Amino acid sequence: MPSKREIIDDVAKYLRHMQNNGSDGVAIDPAIFDAQTAKPEQRRGKSEPTASADRAANLREIAGRIDQCRDCPLGETRNKTVPGTGCLDPDIMFIGEGPGRDEDLQGLPFVGRSGKILDRLIKRMGYSRDQVFIGNIVKCRATEDYQMKKDRAPSTEEMGACIHYLVEQISQVRPKVIVTLGNTALEGLFGFRGITKRRGKWLEYEGIPAMPTYHPSFLLRGGGDQGKRFWEVWEDMLMVFDQLGKQPPESS
Ligand code: SF4
Repeated sequence: MPSKREIIDDVAKYLRHMQNNGSDGVAIDPAIFDAQTAKPEQRRGKSEPTASADRAANLREIAGRIDQCRDCPLGETRNKTVPGTGCLDPDIMFIGEGPGRDEDLQGLPFVGRSGKILDRLIKRMGYSRDQVFIGNIVKCRATEDYQMKKDRAPSTEEMGACIHYLVEQISQVRPKVIVTLGNTALEGLFGFRGITKRRGKWLEYEGIPAMPTYHPSFLLRGGGDQGKRFWEVWEDMLMVFDQLGKQPPESS
């Protein structure tokens, strides 16, 4: 393997050759520049061997920045930001769309009616809330005409302004598996929609297996945890167990 000195000499030689042939600049792919200059916590999926205490502190620091954030219009109307909760190194990180009314008031993810369904799913899987991580694509509540009355999905611009927080959180939390809930989570993380076709099929996010499944609010509209859709989600979770090399609890 060439030494750093040899690489620099070769690059210098190449640039002199380009200059002698009339070139006055070299195009560098901005993505390469970004990758080289990004802070470690911003490098998607590049996990530095950071101690848990440091990562917990980093998560708190990210939550602090979210709390001060006004990078999109949702920051002007929210009551509380909802950065997400859970543990480091969990088997599963659930990712939803964004806060609704209850979440906006309490500053916690999935505490409304949808949250009850997610809680039942997590319990059925043999975990508790503090044994997984629960986050969202956007951290502030999105409502129609910013009136804080009727929830809506966040816009592409709002997701684009917020997604870097989730990227940073994933690199600190380091889940074994990601489960995206619904279309917005799918779009926010992977850039495409179509949850009905995509659910139950593995994707990969920066080396982490990711399972797309339905959002709990969609289950609510289809019979809750007694409906057919819940069992479709459960089928997806059985694949998650398989990926983790674990068996679902016997009582489930
Ligand atoms: S949704 Fe995200 S980007 Fe927009 S204000 Fe809230 S934290 Fe900032």
